[in-house]
Amino acid sequence: MATENLQFKAEIRELLSLVIHSVYSNKDIFLRELVANAADAIDKARFLSLTQQDMIRDWEIRIEADKDTKTLIISDNGVGMNRDELIENLGTIAHSGTKAFTEALEKAKEEGSVSAPELIGQFGVGFYSAFMAADKVTVETKKDGEAQAWKWISDGENDFSIEEVSKDAPGTRITLYLKEDFEAYLDYWRVAELIRKYSDFIEYPIRMKHTVTKDGKEEVEDSTLNTMKAIWLRPESEVTEEEYDQFYQHISMDYNKPARRISFSAEGASEFKSLLYIAGKMPMSYRMGMNKDHKQIQLYVRRVFITDNCPGLLPEYMGFVAGVVDSSDLPLNVSRETLQDNPQIARISKSIVKRVLSELDKMLTKDREAYEEFYKEFSPMIKGGVHTDFNNKEKLQDLLLFESMNSGKLMTLKEYSDAMPATQKAIYYITGDRREALEFSPQLEMFRKQGYDVLFLYEPMDEIIMDDIAKYAEKDLVSVLKGEVKFDESVQKELDEKTKKETEENKELVEFLKKTLEDKVKDVRFSSRLTESPCCLVGDDYDPSVSMQRLFKAMGQESPDVKRILELNGESPLIGALKSLYEKDPSAASLPDYAELLYDQALISEGATLPDPAKFARRTVLLMTESIQKELSAE
Ligand code: ADP
Repeated sequence: MATENLQFKAEIRELLSLVIHSVYSNKDIFLRELVANAADAIDKARFLSLTQQDMIRDWEIRIEADKDTKTLIISDNGVGMNRDELIENLGTIAHSGTKAFTEALEKAKEEGSVSAPELIGQFGVGFYSAFMAADKVTVETKKDGEAQAWKWISDGENDFSIEEVSKDAPGTRITLYLKEDFEAYLDYWRVAELIRKYSDFIEYPIRMKHTVTKDGKEEVEDSTLNTMKAIWLRPESEVTEEEYDQFYQHISMDYNKPARRISFSAEGASEFKSLLYIAGKMPMSYRMGMNKDHKQIQLYVRRVFITDNCPGLLPEYMGFVAGVVDSSDLPLNVSRETLQDNPQIARISKSIVKRVLSELDKMLTKDREAYEEFYKEFSPMIKGGVHTDFNNKEKLQDLLLFESMNSGKLMTLKEYSDAMPATQKAIYYITGDRREALEFSPQLEMFRKQGYDVLFLYEPMDEIIMDDIAKYAEKDLVSVLKGEVKFDESVQKELDEKTKKETEENKELVEFLKKTLEDKVKDVRFSSRLTESPCCLVGDDYDPSVSMQRLFKAMGQESPDVKRILELNGESPLIGALKSLYEKDPSAASLPDYAELLYDQALISEGATLPDPAKFARRTVLLMTESIQKELSAE
């Protein structure tokens, strides 16, 4: 059959053009990518061979270098591809990786941050990275169980071609016609070093022949370049940090250093070995939403790779964990479909979740700085855990950190609770966008005066979390923006008496304000919350807070505007003056304006936007004019 010419899909053409025309800071990665693909292909074949005995063969990856033709060949005896798969996989279907890569590149270009070669390094562009090193690539491949083999040829420009070829064994053989400045990769020692560096943990032998001189005679030696030992089965003392990091990169696609590594073996009800990593930074792939299918944990059964997509192994909120689980008691022929409901998997999951949580706790207590760094990246996930993982809620809530009003530092609920003065009965928090907006909130005045600390919560979901927790160390979690404040009896009794007196003395003013602001507030009352400001707005005990309402709206949910309560400060000279004015002339024309202004400035003081800023401005201008004129006439 003749040669057939085909076109690359547009995204792939774009990617190829980048790969071909970039200058690389790390030239080595193409080898790692091709070897990883070869290992994947063998993984697949080996998995199939569990049920098809005739497929079992001596799995291997082979590298050949030919200095005369300047070609480097990477071959495997894995699953191989048929004609259609070859065309799709290497030319017409843009894999999720390709798309994410081009998207990341667009983003990086906009931000002017990372360059293409760096991104290629971070993402790995799989097979196409072959064109970093070669100006022509051929792929000869034969699918297991099929008679015909196929050859794919391309120089990475617009076209690739496909033709029939003869090939004995199933598998794939990729030939790179190396570019001039890549000829160093023909050297055995160079290749051996790179394989040790990037692909040592690959479970299949990566072999290469080379000539050695023994007793003055030249001999060809066939060497295995990788140690192949599953890294999670090797004693920790025999594995270098670099190897561990490499392995982490391999499974997580995250090229940052992990924050923690956990190796452990479980015995008893379910036996398995596990090597887990806790990420230090949010991996790019995760940020781009590429990790939705949970490809973070590779599941092996007695060293045979089963799947890297087993959602039951890790709860969704643990997106910061990657690693390997190698079970000794799952049946080898376990089907990928039934894994999710497998009770063994549930047991393994329970045990790794427990282990990760205890590691985080250890980090929190022993290495606070590292934990805070981790927390800054992943706090939404920990909070997601508090909300969804009922079994581990207590442990997860101890991993939360919130900013303290008093110190500006992050603190745990336990630290807050331990430091509470004896008179303080509840744990107080306030929600808002940022510290500057919260710091001068009138609602905090009395708490400051009492020497209480208040936690500053900045994320919309914090409030939901607070509702989830509700009580910590037998203390209620209370929003200072809601309900009536209740301090310790010793303090509260006196405050209550004062409030009662103020309420009685100002009955009429309160009635007037209630009536005037009827559309805006549900009640007007005196309280002991304030020491300086004339008034503030608070929510009723069980009403959703303002930020919660905003969150609902943002999520497209109906949320009626819930009116709040206007609390007055009896000690404020402004309230005193208003009372006198009202007593002098209850029908004074300026009174309704003052009432509106009082409400508006309560909104402003909590950083909210006014519903009618123009009206507010008009009223202030009027007031300023009057007051200036008064000052002038007094002279
Ligand atoms: P990825 O490996 O991330 O899916 P690649 O661009 O590296 O993307 O490869 C695309 C696809 O081509 C692979 O998913 C696989 O199906 C196929 N492929 C690549 N190399 C081989 C190989 N050596 N043997 C069999 N199939 C391969």
